[in-house]
Amino acid sequence: VGYYLARNLAVPISHLTETAESLARGELGARVNSPEVPVELNRLAKSFNIMAERLQAYVHELRSFVANASHELRTPLTSIKLRVESLRDGALDDPSVADRFLAEIESEVDRLSCMVNEMLDLSRIEGGLSEEQRMPISLAQIVEDVYATFLARAQRADIEFTRHVDPSVPPLLGDEEQLRRMLYNLIDNAIKYTPHNGKLEIILEHVDGEHISRLLVRDSGFGIMKNQLPHIFERFYRVEATRPRYGPPQGTGLGLAITKSIVENHGGTISVSSQVGEGTTFVIDFPTGN
Ligand code: ADP
Repeated sequence: VGYYLARNLAVPISHLTETAESLARGELGARVNSPEVPVELNRLAKSFNIMAERLQAYVHELRSFVANASHELRTPLTSIKLRVESLRDGALDDPSVADRFLAEIESEVDRLSCMVNEMLDLSRIEGGLSEEQRMPISLAQIVEDVYATFLARAQRADIEFTRHVDPSVPPLLGDEEQLRRMLYNLIDNAIKYTPHNGKLEIILEHVDGEHISRLLVRDSGFGIMKNQLPHIFERFYRVEATRPRYGPPQGTGLGLAITKSIVENHGGTISVSSQVGEGTTFVIDFPTGN
């Protein structure tokens, strides 16, 4: 009986150990078969596999982030390199061409530095919020501030910009700078992707009975196609077709990923609905906890 029991335990445990060693060597697809009995070992094997699954998904995500980031950085670098070569090959002799190339190099460098800053911000924000970073923040005040920041730009773009703030919305425990950034990104996009004579509104309301503070950002802009909608929160994702022809320089595609990460740091959810040619609405819900 002793031999039988020991064998029943020893075989699965040594299998588990071997699989752990395979994972440690970087074979991230390694999994264990879970024995039916004993129950404890069955549970251990299952949790082990779930852990391995998560590890593999995480490493995969990290790799794809590095690949995307490198790809994004390579494009402006290539363009800078080409222009420097042309300058060296004679473009320097024609001052007007040289001027143009230098201006283009400068704008690529600006783009690179903007991208690197956003990547750093994203990685900092994805690190989460510590308890010490959480303070009671007035969402109403943030709406007012962001509204004031963007009003002139909206007016220059002939966009009717309004805000409605319900004063009963309670303060939210969170990070002021992040919450400001979250709304800033949404309004910045809304103005970028809304043509002249458009409308843009921010609504902050308290959803009674559901203990939710809801923030809506609604524009009457270009809208986003249905098949692209599920991807817009992905890092580096940009919708080329909705880009206004003579709009500001291309974004980095990180804005909404940053926004989403901030919402999640505050226990909230973000969703979007959109109709091409009619506009886009982002809805953010924060639990108020009472
Ligand atoms: P970007 O830096 O390119 O603006 P974002 O992550 O902020 O990146 O947005 C991703 C894409 O989602 C944008 O390229 C844009 O096409 C689309 N988008 C975001 N907000 C809006 C909006 N309010 N109206 C239309 N399209 C939008």
